Amino acid sequence: MRGNNEFDFDFIVIGSGFGGSVSAHRLVEKGYKVAVMEMGRRWTPDNLPHTSWSLHRWLWRPKIGLRGFFNIQFFRHATIFHGSAVGGGSITYACTLLQPPEKVWEAGSWTGLSDWKAEMPEHYETASLMLGVTENRILGLADHLLKKAAEASGTGHTFYCTKVGIFEPPEGEQGNQTFPDPYFGGEGPARTTCIACGGCMMGCRYGAKNTLDLGYLYLAEKHGAQVFPETRVVNVKPLGGASDGSAGYEVSTVKSTAWVPHQHRRRFTCRAVVFSASSLGTMELLFQLKEKGSLPAISSQLGKHVRTNSESLIGARTPGYSEDVSLGIAIGSGVYIDEHTHIEAVRYPRGSDAMGFLTTILTDGRPGPRRIALWVKNVMKSMLRHPIQTVRVLQPIGWAREFVILLCMQALEGEIEMRWQRPWFWPLRKFLVSHGKKVPTYIPKANEFAKTLAKLTGGFPMSMLPEILFNVPGTAHCIGGCVIADSSTHGVVDSRHRVFNYTNMYICDGSIVSANLGVNPSLTITALAERAMSFIPPAAETDWNDAAKDTAKHLTVAP
Ligand SMILES: Cc1cc2nc3c(=O)[nH]c(=O)nc-3n(C[C@H](O)[C@H](O)[C@H](O)COP(=O)(O)OP(=O)(O)OC[C@H]3O[C@@H](n4cnc5c(N)ncnc54)[C@H](O)[C@@H]3O)c2cc1C
Ligand code: SF4
Repeated sequence: MRGNNEFDFDFIVIGSGFGGSVSAHRLVEKGYKVAVMEMGRRWTPDNLPHTSWSLHRWLWRPKIGLRGFFNIQFFRHATIFHGSAVGGGSITYACTLLQPPEKVWEAGSWTGLSDWKAEMPEHYETASLMLGVTENRILGLADHLLKKAAEASGTGHTFYCTKVGIFEPPEGEQGNQTFPDPYFGGEGPARTTCIACGGCMMGCRYGAKNTLDLGYLYLAEKHGAQVFPETRVVNVKPLGGASDGSAGYEVSTVKSTAWVPHQHRRRFTCRAVVFSASSLGTMELLFQLKEKGSLPAISSQLGKHVRTNSESLIGARTPGYSEDVSLGIAIGSGVYIDEHTHIEAVRYPRGSDAMGFLTTILTDGRPGPRRIALWVKNVMKSMLRHPIQTVRVLQPIGWAREFVILLCMQALEGEIEMRWQRPWFWPLRKFLVSHGKKVPTYIPKANEFAKTLAKLTGGFPMSMLPEILFNVPGTAHCIGGCVIADSSTHGVVDSRHRVFNYTNMYICDGSIVSANLGVNPSLTITALAERAMSFIPPAAETDWNDAAKDTAKHLTVAP
């Protein structure tokens, strides 16, 4: 058995997003020696891309030289967008930080495992303070158009300004002014106020967005956490013959941005591990480790109860519009067009037009060949009626300046499952493959809303091309896959995020979220991680023996 000083670290945190940064900060505060392994790069205002045309600094696909922070993964049931960077999804996210309705604690596998309604408000409050949540005061043209369209369709009273994590200038003042740390009593970095450039999803080049590297992670590093950027974890295995991890773990990494990553293999030892690699990242890593025999006793519930929100991206484009709809913050406002359907006005900054290739003339109708035929008919009809305008609306140049994106989310229950399989088109290796009932890509009321908004500007209502051609919705809100439950027969972790069948092993990220939130998930992931860390004793008091009680004893742990 090793002594405490023979381990490289007390805790290794895998991933530096919302769950990972909270964990690192709180563990360092409790006196632990912490490392954070992050496969993405570190970003600063100087190296962030100016527009989405800078593909190699925007997209994350390191094997083909794309070393940005925005990752897109394609599945049969959804195209999933997520972030990969020091600071995880916070570098590319739109900083909308909303609290879900209380009813989410009465749905899904976490129901009844804790007095969530009594416990969570305190953690939401801490999370909101740490992320600097404020009500948006910067309304751009896209927000005003959203409000007008809601009024025209009888739902104007539901218009609200989003709660966001942005350092906004005081009422009536201009942005771009630098102040000493406004959030952490002088412990944090100086910050500059928002200039409403609409660039949040391309990374804030002004230091106004409350990204994790300026908050939780900044404080963790300042107080001793060691962050390893461009370092991908490829193995985690128990040490010293104790298959449950009670004697510690060995964590192996490779350089994620190297052309030949396995040449840069490194090994670290630690007493405890926190998986915080995001819903997809943690599922992928755990499936690999379960299969290769490093962590064989991970629950077979891994990959189940994955939720993607029911989302559809639509919008309106007005070629040659005299005003710039990209000004404002990424998501400034929202409306509820009915009890279940929520629409937010979204934007990319001027010049970030690459997504313009994915949008096309709005097309109604049920998914399948008929919808595709209808789309072809709509495009041809538009070409005959307004040939110049139609060409202008279908080409990408000027897209961000002219396009009001509408993100439509439905809080309807629906889930898919991820399995670790060889897809039919690529039998050489296994990947995450989605299964289950398809999420609808056509939300009729949302399409009507896009038409109303387009009328206000004299523009064209628009849809996403992949939704029409492949009936696959896009989502930036993938959660679940390692859900909280009473035992390993129903989930992967217990209500304190401890992984069933292992000791001193935790999951703190979107994968443990066990119900459909119906709102953007980052505030909830942060609050849940705050709660999970509150159960870990200070370093001086730990006996390194923290394990979930599993009421299902059917699993055999390999020796
Ligand atoms: C364009 C966009 C806009 C969004 N806007 C919003 C919004 O406005 N509001 C909101 O609430 N949510 C938003 N989201 C979603 C939000 O970003 C995620 O829900 C959130 O980041 C998830 O937090 P997490 O802790 O689960 O992990 P993440 O923040 O995703 O972090 C996981 C980290 O782990 C790293 N990692 C993965 N595997 C490994 C490995 N094997 N080794 C080392 N590191 C690894 C990844 O690189 C990543 O940096 C948006 C997402 C996108 C893509
Ligand atoms: S609108 Fe511009 S300045 Fe403001 S937070 Fe977003 S990127 Fe930063």
